[in-house]
Amino acid sequence: MLSKLISNINPSVTLGISAKAKSLKKQGKPIINLSVGEPDFNTPENIKTKAKDAIEANQTRYTQADGIPELKTAIAQRLKKDDKVDYQPNQIIVSPGAKASIFLALAAIVNPGDEIIIPTPFWVSYPEQVKLVGGNPIYLKTTPERHFLIDPPALQSLISPRTRAILLNNPCNPTGAAYDIEHLMEILNICTRHNLYIVADEIYSKIVFDGFKFVRCAGLSQQIYDRTITIDGVSKAYAMTGWRIGYAAGPQEIIAGMKSFQEHLTSNPCSIAQYAALEAFSGDQRNVAAFTEKFQERRDVLHGELLRIPGIRCTKPKGTFYIFPDISEYFDTSDGQRTIRNSIDLADYLLDTAQVATVPGDGFGAERFLRLSFAASLENLNAAVRQIGTALGALGKM
Ligand code: PMP
Ligand code: GLU
Repeated sequence: MLSKLISNINPSVTLGISAKAKSLKKQGKPIINLSVGEPDFNTPENIKTKAKDAIEANQTRYTQADGIPELKTAIAQRLKKDDKVDYQPNQIIVSPGAKASIFLALAAIVNPGDEIIIPTPFWVSYPEQVKLVGGNPIYLKTTPERHFLIDPPALQSLISPRTRAILLNNPCNPTGAAYDIEHLMEILNICTRHNLYIVADEIYSKIVFDGFKFVRCAGLSQQIYDRTITIDGVSKAYAMTGWRIGYAAGPQEIIAGMKSFQEHLTSNPCSIAQYAALEAFSGDQRNVAAFTEKFQERRDVLHGELLRIPGIRCTKPKGTFYIFPDISEYFDTSDGQRTIRNSIDLADYLLDTAQVATVPGDGFGAERFLRLSFAASLENLNAAVRQIGTALGALGKM
């Protein structure tokens, strides 16, 4: 029998659906995969070259557990240059993906029974990671009417003596919501007044649209800086999901604790991937802007086309490469053969009938929605919306 720890954990909905879509495609089904949260672009050539160089130079041994010093310095310089936030290299730890960085951060600050505030809709791994370190997820609902942004009084009302931290994803997967400086300041000041830690998952920091000014939590004030663990990485901005490099930056004591945990869990992140990430952070940044420009173009097309489907309501993402339409008009419908009761039924129906893979809102704690990734070509996005429109058109109220 499995341990209580593992029995209590749900599998990752995003990874599960993405694997299913990839396997259907392998069987020859013409699936358009809008489920997966990864750029469809290839890793830029300059980055790949540095990885090859690292292999040739035999940079293939264990490294420092918290990452090679050059990489930590390059991260500190990037944060300073782009975001005006100061970190010393000993305040930074590199891990095998930002996912691991978030987990280690939680492990460093959460005691059994501590409450961690998670705004909904949330990224699928947050509640499971909180549970894995013995914490209790406390959900703070956000709604499309308020652009999926936290309502400060609602946050205030959830804070108890047991609250330890808030997990804030800005820009947000799956909604694409992003905070302007005033709103961010207001909610983070509530957090610091109550001595909460802020785990600031800013993995989509570079993917913002229409000139939106992204601000890092840690850059807002000294009090906020002292309570913030900044999370970011190379997966999204540099099209490097498979390389597995993420980082955390924060108070030295917390980073040192995370390092001890990592020493016993994985040792260092892959040495070759670290050299690739070093080039990503310190080399030519033009690809980052070029990728974002493409994402914006695709967002515009997908948002416009989705709104043409009767019954679909949809906010316009300010960042990320996800869109999160409300599809609840199609609940309690049928095509004569199968019944759609919820977002899971609808995502299944669209996979089978429209041959488009999406992620049901249920996995993000938001039942009335569906997540579509626009990390796909314009051609595929247009075809996907057409096929979705036809499949939804075949559903009638029961
Ligand atoms: N946070 C969010 C919100 C994400 O969408 C992802 C994507 N997987 C991650 C963290 C983790 O990224 P990675 O582990 O690939 O660095
Ligand atoms: N973050 C991506 C997503 O939300 C990748 C999958 C995952 O790591 O869960 O789809």
